[in-house]
Amino acid sequence: MASSSTIQEYHKKLTANSNTCVDTVNYYLTKIEEKKHLNAFTAIFAKEALQKAMELDAKRKDGEPLKKLHGVVIAIKDVICYKGHKVTAASKILEGFTSVYTATAVQRLLDEDAIIIGSCNCDEFAMGSTNENSVYGNVLNAADETKVPGGSSGGSAVAVQAGLCMVSLGSDTGGSVRQPADFCGIVGIKPTYGRISRYGLIAYASSFDQIGIFSNSVYDAALLLEVMSGADEFDSTAIENGQWAMGNEHVDKKYKIVYFKEALHHPSLDKEIKENILALIDKLKSEGHTVRAMDFDLLDYVVPAYYVLTTAEASSNLSRYDGVRFGYRNKDSVKDLTDFYKHTRSTGFGKEVQRRIMLGTFVLSAGYYDAYFSKAQQVRRLLADKTKAIFAEYDAVILPTSPGTAFTFGEKTDDPIAMYLADIYTVFANLTGLPGISVPLFKHSNTMPFGLQIMTAKTDELTLLQLSEHLMQHYKTYQHLNN
Ligand code: GLN
Repeated sequence: MASSSTIQEYHKKLTANSNTCVDTVNYYLTKIEEKKHLNAFTAIFAKEALQKAMELDAKRKDGEPLKKLHGVVIAIKDVICYKGHKVTAASKILEGFTSVYTATAVQRLLDEDAIIIGSCNCDEFAMGSTNENSVYGNVLNAADETKVPGGSSGGSAVAVQAGLCMVSLGSDTGGSVRQPADFCGIVGIKPTYGRISRYGLIAYASSFDQIGIFSNSVYDAALLLEVMSGADEFDSTAIENGQWAMGNEHVDKKYKIVYFKEALHHPSLDKEIKENILALIDKLKSEGHTVRAMDFDLLDYVVPAYYVLTTAEASSNLSRYDGVRFGYRNKDSVKDLTDFYKHTRSTGFGKEVQRRIMLGTFVLSAGYYDAYFSKAQQVRRLLADKTKAIFAEYDAVILPTSPGTAFTFGEKTDDPIAMYLADIYTVFANLTGLPGISVPLFKHSNTMPFGLQIMTAKTDELTLLQLSEHLMQHYKTYQHLNN
């Protein structure tokens, strides 16, 4: 079989008996093996995926109607729990640990007859922008193997980009779905905070974390979102489900769009990315959409605020990995319990995770709390107020997803601040809880793809998806890798 371009097409082939779930799973397993060197997966569930495929083929034969995700082959980031399967957060500290329950998001996929084919590589505890902080090593960008796939959900992005599954799940705390989607030339959506339950998602920064989706088409992302979203008794921050029928309303709709002057004229932004977005703005205007520029003087505060608040939350969330309750422990020549904790945590966590735990502990410490943590909270509040005002007037904000295209390996590893600053366009959506998407529209003269980021008002994923589909249909110049 050849890979189908959308879930809908795949279902048509299944119902027409021109494809089966078993053939489909075998096809992906072969592709995964062929592209092993990309290092996108940390575990492959071949046997059970085939078993499930067989059951589904039998169900169809018996005339059972297809559920929404019947036979859809999905990969999940290795920070999402799936009962009976290893979950490691790409960290040594979770070595040997097996999930004791299934994340709500995954359970909802399974309930609609999806097939989970494996878990994907990522930055340790989802901290990073290049996937270079993984205990499993680097993931290669399939568009150019000398480049990073982005992070932290790099493996999930490459799994879709290289055609190793149909759709995948990532998590986005500060851009970890949108930025790798941007670097890999695929769709990556981070829904509204709370849209998808975080139950079973390993916590990095709980007030920012959100499960997101990678796909080739906006429709596939919309379908997965519909299946996974909604309130959950295990996560009190999960919100009720919304309206999802994508329909074709976007075809004639004229949107009111805004962009931030400071974002498009930021010194760190690649010239060609800026030019492409400005050209798109002109085209949108000439077709009757309203596109206005707005001052956004808070832009330079978003990265510092994000790194103060997320590291603070991380320092608390990661305190549970003490060598007693989970996975790895280091008992080498320990004198007492404190010594045991120290040994385990300093050999179990990687460098970046240790840096963030220390940074977070520092900003929360008595003498510095007001100077850093409280100030960052104030920035978060100002951003929320500003956001409310924006969406009282506009349907969407557009901005770059990242200041440049995919980095070369090692390019920013010695300079954590430079790495953090590259998150300038993505952290806003997490600080405010807005939904955001990276739409793969463009190709750079350096041959790499890049996307356009769109944000809409909280819980307005419908507009986000419809506008994205509109842009994909009319303005897409980047062609996906031909798998
Ligand atoms: N690059 C960001 C960071 O390192 C994003 C991480 C994420 O969204 N999980 O924190």
